[in-house]
Amino acid sequence: MRNMTYLPGVSTLTLDTSRCNGCRTCTLVCPHAVLKMANGHAVIGNRDDCMECGACALNCPQEALRVTPGVGCAAYVLQTWFKGKEAACCGESGCC
Ligand code: SF4
Ligand code: SF4
Repeated sequence: MRNMTYLPGVSTLTLDTSRCNGCRTCTLVCPHAVLKMANGHAVIGNRDDCMECGACALNCPQEALRVTPGVGCAAYVLQTWFKGKEAACCGESGCC
């Protein structure tokens, strides 16, 4: 899923580099390669590529990453791929 921008300027992703131990786990689990390594710690590349799936925050052993899954309605985007726009729903209140 490279080269796929999600929604511009809406991602809730944050990274506290002071907590990062450089384990690289986030770079391995991110489906959009948003997180990269630089100078021994993770950095956010193109934030607009983040679909707020939460995988990086869930797997970070240092709790250096935070993101609010669902705000960007990532589930909705995924369901449009599999079910089509008519049947998709992210489950958030007010979505459908
Ligand atoms: S998973 Fe957490 S500790 Fe590991 S490189 Fe990423 S931000 Fe740093
Ligand atoms: S929330 Fe998902 S898409 Fe966004 S940076 Fe983390 S792993 Fe990548």
